[in-house]
Amino acid sequence: MRFDGLKSRLDHAVGRRWPFRSVAVSLDRPLVSITFDDFPLSAYVHGGNILEERGARGTFYVATGLMGSTTPLWTVAGEDETVDLHRRGHELGLHSHGHLPAFAMRPAAFAADLAANRARLRRLLPDLRRETYAYPYGLCGLRQKRHLAGTVRASRSVQDGINAERMDLDFIRSVEISERGLDNARLDTLLERTVASRGWLVFFTHDVSDRPSAYGTTPAMLARLVERTQARGIDILPVGAALDRIGLS
Ligand SMILES: [Zn+2]
Repeated sequence: MRFDGLKSRLDHAVGRRWPFRSVAVSLDRPLVSITFDDFPLSAYVHGGNILEERGARGTFYVATGLMGSTTPLWTVAGEDETVDLHRRGHELGLHSHGHLPAFAMRPAAFAADLAANRARLRRLLPDLRRETYAYPYGLCGLRQKRHLAGTVRASRSVQDGINAERMDLDFIRSVEISERGLDNARLDTLLERTVASRGWLVFFTHDVSDRPSAYGTTPAMLARLVERTQARGIDILPVGAALDRIGLS
């Protein structure tokens, strides 16, 4: 399957620019959220603990079709870890069942895949309500995004930036936690801009390991990010709790 064909790229480009739900963000106290996609066993072990040790909680996006599997990059956490994180106060979110880009599925197939993702997660976590979603590979499509706008509370993209002033609820911006792209200077600049714009800064990563994949980060970097955020008095909340704080019911 080609994810980079002209039609796919156009569908993503149009979809990401078309706001079905545009909302205002103006926080008295700016916020940070930390999210983990897929999520590997190492994110469960290190990600969950690093946040909890500092009094914070994260959002873990589950592609239910990958649960418990081993990919070339990492071993994906299973049902027990998913239930345990929920019990410990982290947010569990939707990340599709089959982990295909949204535009790679026709709208009916996309809706069925999302329903399967939600049904499997709710079987594990019966009290789950009003889930948030993260786009696999950060890729959307116009009709799939419209479906999400009527189905989930909000959707996180991998479009770089801070959510401030007006925000697309179905394409929340986020910044990758990456050793290469997020040094202390850029992190401090982002945090300063988040405070200045009364905004909401969302981070994403995958595995958390001393030898991470190209899509992950190290425990040391994650800890540093949490500590530098908290040193500025910025609260770290899961995505759903941040939406509550922004005033989006
Ligand atoms: Zn993913």
